[in-house]
Amino acid sequence: MSEPCKIHAADPHAAFVAHEWELRQAMDRVLRSGHYIMGPEVEAFEREWAAWLGGAESVAVANGTEALELCLRALGVGPSDTVATVSNTVSATAAAIQQTGASIAWVDVDDSSMTMSPESLAKVLSEAERPIKVVLPVHLYGRPADMIAINVLAAQHGAKVVEDCAQAHGAMLAGRMMGLWGDIAAFSFYPTKNLGALGDGGAVVTRDARLAERLRRLRQYGWRQRYVSEEPGRNSRLDEVQAAVLRVKLNHLDAENACRRKLAKRYLDLLCDQPLQLPPADGADTISAWHQFAVRLPNRAAVQERLAQAGIHCGVLYPVPLHRQPAYAQKVSLPQCERACANVLCLPVYPTLTTADIDRVASELIRCLHT
Ligand SMILES: *Cc1c(COP(=O)(O)O)cnc(C)c1O
Repeated sequence: MSEPCKIHAADPHAAFVAHEWELRQAMDRVLRSGHYIMGPEVEAFEREWAAWLGGAESVAVANGTEALELCLRALGVGPSDTVATVSNTVSATAAAIQQTGASIAWVDVDDSSMTMSPESLAKVLSEAERPIKVVLPVHLYGRPADMIAINVLAAQHGAKVVEDCAQAHGAMLAGRMMGLWGDIAAFSFYPTKNLGALGDGGAVVTRDARLAERLRRLRQYGWRQRYVSEEPGRNSRLDEVQAAVLRVKLNHLDAENACRRKLAKRYLDLLCDQPLQLPPADGADTISAWHQFAVRLPNRAAVQERLAQAGIHCGVLYPVPLHRQPAYAQKVSLPQCERACANVLCLPVYPTLTTADIDRVASELIRCLHT
């Protein structure tokens, strides 16, 4: 009997092969140009990315973590400030806050969407010892957080809003792209993201021209003009090769996101009667970028192991909430977040998979649930 093909949790190599010729052309163009840093590709990508989102300024940076950190620094966040965020996210979200010296106030999530709970946020905002300077929701798995409620609460408490859009390229709420809801937003172009480079990359997006200008200084030594630092800065540049790669990938992003939606819809149809909790379907107002398809089930470890034996590899994003990790430990109780981290399992959902792959994952999963 021949082994069935492996289905990986993510497959950046397949994403490269899918556009290999175009990507090689783009990279070759940069190699031959002799211009490798802060040149025409970065400028063009910033313009095209902002236009794709539907109007904002976009500042390309080195990665998603620094995009978040620079958002906070551009808003003036420092050691005497507090940032409110969620705990079921990648360490990067907390690392970015910690780099500024600010403290973290943990907010619980909503059970259904697994994104920031407005009720919990209201409590954190009103009970905080000192005013919360920034609220930082994460559009986890591509699912938009409830930005309408979050923006209202933040405004009531005089807090700014930074969106973590690292998993939400193309997610929409009420017809507006995620990244255009807060004061400023951070994207990652890590290879497995919906828009992924062949290396590291990130971008900050804002409709505030002054914030964008500050970002441009902060990402390069604090320079206003060459060799003159106006304020302390750093090096967080995106390079020309990655910008050229991202321009190619951006041309395919609509089609690839549509493919993710189709695959997710198929999972929802195939698994609707099963004893597990499915992610909410897209509605008229809320469109997920389907970066992950996260189901909830009690016996996660056993199911993950049996699927792996069948050649199907699922991710657990994220097994340990940040407030329980040594680097960020705090004695707080976040029951919904802790429950999510204990029972979430991410089924493979990316555009180089076929509907036949989805059928295979779903039928193996159903078999696991019933034997
Ligand atoms: C990927 C990711 C980041 C960090 O992006 P990097 O480019 O890896 O630094 C931040 N937040 C979330 C939610 C992510 O998924």
